[in-house]
Amino acid sequence: MSSSPLVSRANVDILDELQLIAAQNLERLEVNKYYEVIRELGKGTYGKVDLVIHKIRGTKMALKFLKKKTTKLKSFLREYSISLYLSPCPFIINMYGIAFETDEYYVFAQEYALAGDLFDIIPPQVGLPESVAKRCVHQVAIALDYLHCKKLVHRDIKPENILIFDRECRKVKLSDFGMTRRAGSPVKRVSGTIPYTAPELCDASRQEGFCVDYSTDVWAFGVLLFCMLTGNFPWEKALPTDTFYQEFIHWQRRRTNTVPSQWRRFTEQALRMFRRLLSVEQDRRCSVKEVFGYFSHSWMLDAEHDNNGNAGGSGSAEMVGGSNIGGGGGGNVRGDMEGTISTSSSGEEDEELLVERMKQQTLSPRSPLSPLSPMSPMVVERGSGGGGAKGAMMDPGGGHHFVSVSTNSSVSSTNSYDRMPRENGSPGGRLLVATPIEICV
Ligand code: AMP
Repeated sequence: MSSSPLVSRANVDILDELQLIAAQNLERLEVNKYYEVIRELGKGTYGKVDLVIHKIRGTKMALKFLKKKTTKLKSFLREYSISLYLSPCPFIINMYGIAFETDEYYVFAQEYALAGDLFDIIPPQVGLPESVAKRCVHQVAIALDYLHCKKLVHRDIKPENILIFDRECRKVKLSDFGMTRRAGSPVKRVSGTIPYTAPELCDASRQEGFCVDYSTDVWAFGVLLFCMLTGNFPWEKALPTDTFYQEFIHWQRRRTNTVPSQWRRFTEQALRMFRRLLSVEQDRRCSVKEVFGYFSHSWMLDAEHDNNGNAGGSGSAEMVGGSNIGGGGGGNVRGDMEGTISTSSSGEEDEELLVERMKQQTLSPRSPLSPLSPMSPMVVERGSGGGGAKGAMMDPGGGHHFVSVSTNSSVSSTNSYDRMPRENGSPGGRLLVATPIEICV
């Protein structure tokens, strides 16, 4: 048989092809000629994300600028092409098919998420109301499963990468595919961990590289769930030296029946789900789809945690649009794709009020409602974010709490909030600095 170019083209990997086409079409543009810059949405050493208006179309967009100094063209093309490839999923950020370069930056355009990211709305030490958390979890699980079905691993699942599209937090989408790689790709082990990093990647003493695996996303997704429901991190690092983690694995491995204190707020079913998502042995960790089997159960023991004030927790979350969140285990994710969860109409008002209140209770230490003392010892994450620096705080009473350090305040320069260059492969893209710092507000 002849091997005509047409025949061999059929076997071309779509992601490789997208990257090659993007490289061929990459134009040099002057940003101000086509876009009016409104404001900065996020920033780091990698570059920045700006809210802009397309001057001809009048469309609001988010332009992501990656510094040429720290970003290889190959990395830029990979992030852009992967984002484009995944964008048909309704719970993954949409793209405009626009990529260009300036003297200083590689740039691509994404849809604009008007309500920022999930980090900014999780009330510290409280967490989101169960029904709000469940709705977000449902959408993120669909996005993550979509990605896994495409044989890709996100590798940077955390609240900062979940963007919110409405003030009521009804629609969220997964974003930032800078760390995303094909499952099975060999990558180097790097130092630096964040609370979402899976235990198998935390041990810096192990020098060998590893292969990218879905299970690391599943672990991070489990930690994300805990954070959303409690407003705390379950631990600082998934290492035996971390007391909170140590306690958890002791229980996880059934060495004790005593549920660790920070996990006692969950129902039996929720604990079962966490045990599956946060299985210490990688090969025993469940797939992300498994969470669909748990939505019909309450997750929190404290009924007041439910946003509608309904005793019994999650019962208030019901589905519209034919989606079956409460169905049997491992529900059909493909069929559920367009589904969203709504609450009853009176509940909706309550929920709006609650979300509004949550937003006022921002994580900023300026907020009078914030339970966090700005002078406390902290663990600051370096990275980028909408309103300012984001990090975790060690609470003397136990648990790790979210805190946000407003960049508008006069924070000392040592606290400057920089995202690590993508090429250095920091697992979270952000580094934790475990030194007490002083925050001036
Ligand atoms: P990234 O580097 O893509 O994680 O973006 C950094 C931060 O910028 C995010 O955590 C968001 O707060 C913000 N951001 C990024 N992309 C968008 C977008 N499309 N719409 C609104 N905000 C965004």
